[in-house]
Amino acid sequence: MSTPEPTADTIAAISTPPGRGGIGIVRLSGPDACSIAVQLVRLRYPLEPAHARLADVLDDSDCAQRIDEALVTYFAAPHSYTSDDLVEIAAHGSPIVLELLLSRALALGARLADPGEFTQRAFLSGRLDLTQAEAVRDLIDAQTLTQARQAASQLGGALSRRVAPAKQALVDLIALLEAGIDFAEDDVEITPQAEIARRIDALTPPLAALAASFARGRIVHDGLTLAIVGRPNAGKSSLFNCLVERERAIVSATPGTTRDTVSERIALDGIPLELVDTAGLREAAGEVEQLGIQRSREALADAHLVLIVLDATQPLNDEERRLLAAASGRPALVAFNKCDLAAASSLPDAIGLPALPTSALTGQGIAALRERILALATGGAASEPGLLTTLRHQQAIQSTLAALADAAQANNSSIPHEMILLDLYRALWALDSLTGQTTPDDILNLIFSTFCIGK
Ligand code: GDP
Repeated sequence: MSTPEPTADTIAAISTPPGRGGIGIVRLSGPDACSIAVQLVRLRYPLEPAHARLADVLDDSDCAQRIDEALVTYFAAPHSYTSDDLVEIAAHGSPIVLELLLSRALALGARLADPGEFTQRAFLSGRLDLTQAEAVRDLIDAQTLTQARQAASQLGGALSRRVAPAKQALVDLIALLEAGIDFAEDDVEITPQAEIARRIDALTPPLAALAASFARGRIVHDGLTLAIVGRPNAGKSSLFNCLVERERAIVSATPGTTRDTVSERIALDGIPLELVDTAGLREAAGEVEQLGIQRSREALADAHLVLIVLDATQPLNDEERRLLAAASGRPALVAFNKCDLAAASSLPDAIGLPALPTSALTGQGIAALRERILALATGGAASEPGLLTTLRHQQAIQSTLAALADAAQANNSSIPHEMILLDLYRALWALDSLTGQTTPDDILNLIFSTFCIGK
């Protein structure tokens, strides 16, 4: 990687969330961070790298009047989050005080930071690679501990480390072929076709395994939606409540009362799962109910997973048969609910989907239902370090694999090494885009724009 350009301007932002709080932080990064900071507050001692200093925040109109007390910490380049000089002013979390500090900083020549710009600077300086920078955002956005752990592991470089051996092997192979071309007249031995094939083959399994990790990485990162569908009164809302473990949907003995969809996020083994309780699927006359049924069909179409709730005390009706047919081939589960009222033998079989008896009333089968939903969600994929979590990651690895397949094919057809090299460079370029070494600027800007301001 080339030496990064020194950062020209100094950026500033309020890095703590909007609103009042115990502490609020204004952050400055860039060559003038210190010189601006010393004019923003009255320091009681001079700034010193990696030391916190007490300071007074003075009123604008009356410079003798203190309106807050702050702690100012200076991180000298390159030992800071951004690798530039960075100053954090921690005042009380009063929006008025923080706005005052920020507007003064801007008046003194700082520029308001764009979303994610502090992290972008860390990336541009080479302190973080792109997967690590993305992990900062994911850590902030995490809704479950599992998501936070995944982000922390990525921030620690787990994904980059997992890719590194493949990258090294690819670079070695490229160097070997390049040497054969450059020094052809100097008696450098031409690499045999079988050796090239062996080396390309050896690269594929670890990258294919990485691509496969996206199955779990994606759901840890994004979560899933589960639509709970079935006829009115089958017990959908009751099962929803069992899964959510608190009263959220209205449970009623009159058919068709859950007219709208109700949704709630739960964490199933750390995976965020949005449960959508839909209105009953039934040909209904009433306009309001019709609307609910429409929503229910939409929820069914949009959801990643489907839980079909059947009333174990009732024979299957036509609507339910249609529903079962519609769900076959999709990740779906069937709950024969009210099993407390029905003999096990009366449960219909041959419905073509995995099924289990449940009772929302007694709690029977609910633990098993959670497990089955989890297995359905993860497809049985286990957790491992260095998962691919975003489509961007997945596409980078898929492009690498595709380019390697082209290289293998070219090699088999005894095509000149110059041409094989083109495919290998394409593979390397795709692999490097994962860590951001060859990511175009517009994509980088898009990624950092999804951050919050001040990070
Ligand atoms: P929904 O219309 O499908 O959402 O059904 P509800 O959850 O509103 O339940 C309809 C009725 O069935 C309510 O009176 C529930 O108490 C009752 N119910 C739900 N699940 C069970 C169950 O497993 N066993 C029994 N005995 N009754 C249940």
